[in-house]
Amino acid sequence: MPHWSNQLPANRKHMGFELRRTPAVGNLHVIVTSPDVTVCDTHFYHGRTIPCERPDCPACNEAIPYRTHVYLAAYDPRKAEHFILETTAHAAIPLIEYRDANDTLRGCAIYASRPKGAKNSRVEIQTNSTNLSKINLPSPPDVPKALCVIWRLPTDAATPNNSTSNPPTIQIDSAITAKVHQQPDNANGYIRRQQLQQQLTEACSRTPTA
Ligand SMILES: [Zn+2]
Repeated sequence: MPHWSNQLPANRKHMGFELRRTPAVGNLHVIVTSPDVTVCDTHFYHGRTIPCERPDCPACNEAIPYRTHVYLAAYDPRKAEHFILETTAHAAIPLIEYRDANDTLRGCAIYASRPKGAKNSRVEIQTNSTNLSKINLPSPPDVPKALCVIWRLPTDAATPNNSTSNPPTIQIDSAITAKVHQQPDNANGYIRRQQLQQQLTEACSRTPTA
């Protein structure tokens, strides 16, 4: 039996999200789509970023220091791009002030820059409200699940949070995740794994000596 309908299919498919940081030169001018921030401690461990899993964390057990990062989904209306923005806890203080004053971060316009113009220099964030009647803001992804995709963890590693009541399903787009895995903080583990796979393939294809 055909299934006829007079409704268009709901477009709720969201592909993997790219992780972005404030550029050294220039700035980010985006609108937050998440209702709240997601805060997570991360390590740079064996060449890639991993979330800290205290109290039983392999990186902590090796005395590798962690950093606290703040994540949120952000939309660039000029480029129609929706991505995960990572920033430091210090830079995120204006975001917390905005959330507490407005009961949500969704619709908060962010202007993020590095005044010193150097790669890892301090980020400064300014906030402003947006006229949401003039912009079609997309639904936010489940940020912890999007981060699990970026960090190559099973998505069920994301513990439920209260930020989004009915988030769209996240699907993995290999083109986007490949790009993410080549970003400096995430690349080394990925490249190392590719090298190991190549070495393994070569070792297996080598004809055994008599
Ligand atoms: Zn840890």
